[in-house]
Amino acid sequence: MKAMMRFFKSLFLLELLRGMSVTGRYMFRRKITVQYPEERAPLSPRFRGLHALRRYPNGEERCIACKLCEVVCPALAITIESAPREDGSRRTTRYDIDLTKCIFCGYCEESCPVDSIVETNIYEYHGEQRGDLMMTKAKLLAVGDKYEQQIAADRAADSRYR
Ligand code: SF4
Ligand code: SF4
Repeated sequence: MKAMMRFFKSLFLLELLRGMSVTGRYMFRRKITVQYPEERAPLSPRFRGLHALRRYPNGEERCIACKLCEVVCPALAITIESAPREDGSRRTTRYDIDLTKCIFCGYCEESCPVDSIVETNIYEYHGEQRGDLMMTKAKLLAVGDKYEQQIAADRAADSRYR
């Protein structure tokens, strides 16, 4: 009996017709494909994209070189070296994030006591050589300076930071 059913199914192309009926049903429905890059899907303020180091409004680096982010990073992607300044405050002399290791878990920004290391909503970046994806302190500060307004707005919109 089963063999007969299989025979008739293949004779009348029933499986093919069933597949075509699914295609036909969706052909006339509202299209939900986003035509990127002309169209963009909305991003959550909690989106975890490219990292940035922030400054205070007076231009001072927020980072106090406590190294919590380095310790908590499960991918061992962060490397920090620090030294005291002449005024006695401690600051990083090296702050690298290797984006080829990073898994964008967000632990670094959640661990930071001074809201220094953050993940922005930037996702359009790439590297053509391995070194391009090594975010140095200078690069991270530059991202922070450029996108500070967006970063501050996202944090204001995120209930975790209110
Ligand atoms: S997002 Fe996660 S993996 Fe990436 S640097 Fe931060 S703690 Fe490490
Ligand atoms: S970014 Fe934050 S958690 Fe990391 S060393 Fe600086 S102050 Fe500490």
